[in-house]
Amino acid sequence: MKNDRVLALTGATVLVGASLTPRRDCTVLVSQGRVSAVGADVVVPSAARVLDLPGHTVLPGLIDTHVHLGAPEEPPGRPVRGRAGRPGAGGGLRTGPGLAGRLSTGAAQVRAVADRMRFQPRKRRAFLEHGVTTACSLGDDNAWVHDFRRRTAEGGLVGPRLLIAGPLFTAPGGHPVATLGAEPGADWVRVPHCREEAREQVAALATGDDPVDVVKVVQDRGDPRRRSLEPIAPGVLAAIADEVRRHGIPLVAHWGTLEDLAELLDAGVDVLQHLEPRGPLHGWPPHLLDAMVREGVALAPTLAVTEALPDEEAAASLRARAAEFLDAGGTLLAGSDAGMPAVRAGAGLVREIELLASCGLTPRQALTAATSAAARALDAPHLGAVEPGRAADLLAVRGDPLADLGALRRVALVLRDGRAVVDRTREKAS
Ligand SMILES: [Zn+2]
Repeated sequence: MKNDRVLALTGATVLVGASLTPRRDCTVLVSQGRVSAVGADVVVPSAARVLDLPGHTVLPGLIDTHVHLGAPEEPPGRPVRGRAGRPGAGGGLRTGPGLAGRLSTGAAQVRAVADRMRFQPRKRRAFLEHGVTTACSLGDDNAWVHDFRRRTAEGGLVGPRLLIAGPLFTAPGGHPVATLGAEPGADWVRVPHCREEAREQVAALATGDDPVDVVKVVQDRGDPRRRSLEPIAPGVLAAIADEVRRHGIPLVAHWGTLEDLAELLDAGVDVLQHLEPRGPLHGWPPHLLDAMVREGVALAPTLAVTEALPDEEAAASLRARAAEFLDAGGTLLAGSDAGMPAVRAGAGLVREIELLASCGLTPRQALTAATSAAARALDAPHLGAVEPGRAADLLAVRGDPLADLGALRRVALVLRDGRAVVDRTREKAS
């Protein structure tokens, strides 16, 4: 099925442009996978397929700025641990000898099933069903996630659009080497020992036929009360950042402490992921807050992860820090860290948007964090807004999410590249 017939969404309120400005009784035309027109007076071509959506709101598909795809998914056979000692990483499923016997349907079919399972069918579906049309993988087996992105882009696999970092850069004694036992040679980490190696490793990812979309570093000294971790040496971090800049892609960082933050700001980070109790629990040092805002560094506080903290007071304090950052003029992004044990694909991002609102963001600000602000921070100008020329990755929900974010839980339609990948428009509203 190719997208050559024009699709017209009519009768809905549309959140238009990067500002998500609501326009009532608005029409969106979709052609060749892109939004071709938006407005109240748009003429619907007679040959168009029309979906009338009164009572619905059309908005850009959601962007999760932080996922890990390589967590285990129940395969038809026995799950096999990935190379890195991390379940599912390193290419996910490897078919065990028992699989062929159990299915007894021939080697080709076994391979087809195994191949399908390697690329997380349930997770792909879960993202889409929650309206997540783009997911940014921040640390997955490099070869595997390139393969995953390619197959998703070509339309062979139905799922969210993938932006990828490939592996994550860390120190020999850093996370996840020292925490999760990632082998330094595993394909989901890079552990450069000197500036030259750092530059080579970044260049290898950022050039060629299939370059990564972002580069991710882990700069985290860990929780000093429990165990300290090794951060990337300043010279190596600077070399990574400089090489990333040379290639013109965003530098994304996992950070922990305020010292880590200061080093990342010095290096020229673009996007910060996480907001941990070991960071600004008791307040932002003014010079660091100023620097983040001045340099336009975006922050995805991954509140869905820290929500699970037993310390409710700490969780509340972190929400206050996120609000202070926004009040100071900072850009907040929605990132779920789906793949972490407590965070589910798709549902985690919807929860993150609700948690951002609980920090004091208006529904519109919270939705911006998961759409246009995310697209800008990840340097994906073709995404994140209902606007002519942008990709027709669209979401229609029942109700008005600007009045009640609960509407995000009433997904009626999801388009990915103009193609309906979730369609509940014929179901009765409940
Ligand atoms: Zn993560």
